Amino acid sequence: MFSYCPQCQSPHPEFTDNKRTHCLSCGFVLYHNTAAAVAVLVKSGNRSIILRRGREPGKGLLDLPGGFVDPGESAEECCRREIWEELGISVTKLRYISSGYNIYPYKGVTYNTCDLFFIAECCDMNFVRQEDEVDEILLLGKDEIQLGQFAFESITKFLKEHWMEIPED
Ligand SMILES: [Zn+2]
Repeated sequence: MFSYCPQCQSPHPEFTDNKRTHCLSCGFVLYHNTAAAVAVLVKSGNRSIILRRGREPGKGLLDLPGGFVDPGESAEECCRREIWEELGISVTKLRYISSGYNIYPYKGVTYNTCDLFFIAECCDMNFVRQEDEVDEILLLGKDEIQLGQFAFESITKFLKEHWMEIPED
């Protein structure tokens, strides 16, 4: 992961178990641990909120509201913060459903994520879109959701496994 040790600048620290950087010269150790992330299926009547991604990875593909959990933040707090930042709305009846895993390549670094999936409801349609992150906010009926168009495999898997939870007309 690093060409040089961040502590003593020796070349080629070893990288093992797909997560551990270890410098044999000075003993420096850094764990590139799995990052926690959330994604929320927000239901609005007989529609679901689906986003079109405005940035890489997966720019132009579909996504659910969500993102990486900040230090000192619970998964539920992260859901509410991300939904507020991406959509400018609050949600009710937020509940945890299941988890999955993913890889998230970002600017040359590959992050391994543990994705926590939630379902929530909203009645506020006054979206304030965060322009750089979200290209488009879609309100889709169940038969309009194209599972093959999502940026991340774990989200497709979650939606397939909980297809009965998606509202329909
Ligand atoms: Zn070192």
